[in-house]
Amino acid sequence: MLFLYVEQNQNTWLEALQKWCPSLSVVTQNDAYDPEQVRWVAAWNPPPGLFAPFQQLKGVFALGAGVDAFVRRPDLADNIPLVRLLDAGMAQQMVEYILWSVLTVQRDFDTYAQLQQQQTWQVSMARSRAEMRLGVLGLGALGQSVAQQLAELGYPVQGWKRSAIDLPGVDVLTGEAGLEQVIRHSDVLISLLPNTPQTQGLLSYERLSRLPQGAVLVNVARGVQVVDEDLIRLLDDGHLRLAVLDVFYPEPLPSEHPFWAHPKVVVTPHVAAETLPYPAAEQVAESLRQLDQGETPAGLVTGREGY
Ligand code: NDP
Repeated sequence: MLFLYVEQNQNTWLEALQKWCPSLSVVTQNDAYDPEQVRWVAAWNPPPGLFAPFQQLKGVFALGAGVDAFVRRPDLADNIPLVRLLDAGMAQQMVEYILWSVLTVQRDFDTYAQLQQQQTWQVSMARSRAEMRLGVLGLGALGQSVAQQLAELGYPVQGWKRSAIDLPGVDVLTGEAGLEQVIRHSDVLISLLPNTPQTQGLLSYERLSRLPQGAVLVNVARGVQVVDEDLIRLLDDGHLRLAVLDVFYPEPLPSEHPFWAHPKVVVTPHVAAETLPYPAAEQVAESLRQLDQGETPAGLVTGREGY
């Protein structure tokens, strides 16, 4: 038996899971069921205590790429296999979101939106792709797609992660010196880092102030990576041109938060790459089969660092 917990589109998730796992009984909190029969949980944004009744668990599936809400919690033991989604339709959406952010500044669409408010017809000189240096922090399932696809479009791309990899068309840097190099040479800095103790507060005044004058921050990873007051200070003093933010701490973004009304902040409600139930359920079904047969699914979370 698999227990499903999602806050939205529950019926679509049920249909998708039943399509890909036809032999499995799928239950939700609306059903009467015996928790002792539950072997698997598939969930997103699990509330505190969700896993506590399930004492016979064989595995948990995070219905997203980030697993920060599944680690370091008292109701889920570290020895229960935890599997996350790898891409599952999210990488393409992420590429689209980043491309939209980059084009917004490259082609001055943010400026034209403000000029329209003043009914002002004023043409500025657009920049070429080669003039837009991009920095991608985090080169995992999503970051690699973003970095490579934007490099293929002709943007100069630097990427940053802890261990070196060879990524065609992308200059991959590591370590603190690598981060410094990426930040100093990024007209658009994009975070696709997981939420771990090392990445929380990483994008502080000290680091963001080293971005080139007029640079743009795009955060599609997790809100806790950015120090909000520091970002606002850099936008207000004119060092940064724009922040495109899809993720916040906390979420939903509170109504009194200054990001909402800030003229240099674009807010989207954590939609850069949404989980698509059908490709996700197909991946869950395959991972479940692999776990059941003692194999290792590709999305198995090996540490409990937060990714
Ligand atoms: P992965 O786990 O596949 O990749 C993480 C990358 O970050 C790896 O390249 C890893 O490389 C690097 N990394 C991890 N820790 C550090 C560190 N301390 N310093 C430098 N680099 C580090 O994640 P995904 O690409 O699948 O997803 C990335 C994040 O995007 C998710 O964790 C989630 O928070 C966010 N996300 C947001 C969505 C949205 O709609 N806004 C949708 C989906 C995901 P290495 O180990 O070598 O350091």
